[in-house]
Amino acid sequence: MKPVAFQYFAPRTLDEALALLAEHGEEGKVLAGGQSLVPAMNFRLARPASLIAALDYLREADGMLRIGALARHAQFEAPVLSGTLGVLLPRVARHIAHLPIRVRGTFAGSLAHADPASEWCLLAMTLGADLVAATQRGTRTLGPGEFFLGALTTALAPDELLTEIRLPVLDEGWRSGFAEFSRRAGDYALAMCAICLRIEDGRIAEARVGIGGATDRPQRIATAEQALVGSAGGSDIRREAGRLASEAIDPLEDVQASAEYRRDLVRAMVERAVAQACDA
Ligand SMILES: Cc1cc2nc3c(=O)[nH]c(=O)nc-3n(C[C@H](O)[C@H](O)[C@H](O)COP(=O)(O)OP(=O)(O)OC[C@H]3O[C@@H](n4cnc5c(N)ncnc54)[C@H](O)[C@@H]3O)c2cc1C
Repeated sequence: MKPVAFQYFAPRTLDEALALLAEHGEEGKVLAGGQSLVPAMNFRLARPASLIAALDYLREADGMLRIGALARHAQFEAPVLSGTLGVLLPRVARHIAHLPIRVRGTFAGSLAHADPASEWCLLAMTLGADLVAATQRGTRTLGPGEFFLGALTTALAPDELLTEIRLPVLDEGWRSGFAEFSRRAGDYALAMCAICLRIEDGRIAEARVGIGGATDRPQRIATAEQALVGSAGGSDIRREAGRLASEAIDPLEDVQASAEYRRDLVRAMVERAVAQACDA
């Protein structure tokens, strides 16, 4: 099918984009890479009357990587900065869809779309990203816990543009791991896990355990994080973290996988991601 007729606007400044969003309200939609919105329009699941193109940049400042609204997935396939975050981003980016989609789709568009199986949504949750959103009324910064409200649902208002994502540049003490299971390379994840561990004197001093794909939105697993802290990250504690994560979630169930299968995948993904971080 083809989309219903719509108007297209290409604003040249943020003010212009926000004015268009304010003017068009619920009838307007931000267009980023179009890799989720355009298929939805073709199926007529989305019928916006106007498309308003988003804006672009990528830079490091004040210990944060600042990702502008139009930074594409493919930009993260090669390291965009040094250190642990610089290693983690390409590791994650390669799991997103296929090259033509990665060249068009954007980091911010993934977050605004809030697919439960989005790798960037998981990363934003695990790292505790700052999500900067703007309207003509002003700018606000949301944490991932306030931003992700459920599958394909965020706290963004219809006239609000997600202008910037800020990820902490993890310093030298941090190590990271990422593991994903999908049926074929490039498919959406059935389960995935991102891990960040801060190591001090050979022991885990701080742990971030994030789960995606298996539940309606990305989530941190506090029980697994608490179990890891203080340990040396050996095989017993990796297994225990996996078990705790699999018990903590309320898994999705669909034609792709049963809830019990997803629960078991989460167990395995946590164990693998912790191993990757500890053995790095
Ligand atoms: C075959 C296929 C496989 C895919 N596999 C994966 C995968 O494995 N992992 C994955 O994460 N994704 C996958 N995707 C989705 C892809 O990554 C999209 O790029 C992403 O979900 C949306 O980004 P986009 O830039 O294309 O956004 P668009 O499609 O342009 O927009 C998506 C939604 O977000 C809104 N939006 C976009 N940008 C903003 C903004 N800055 N502020 C406010 N609202 C905004 C739009 O209005 C729209 O509602 C796949 C897509 C396809 C077609």
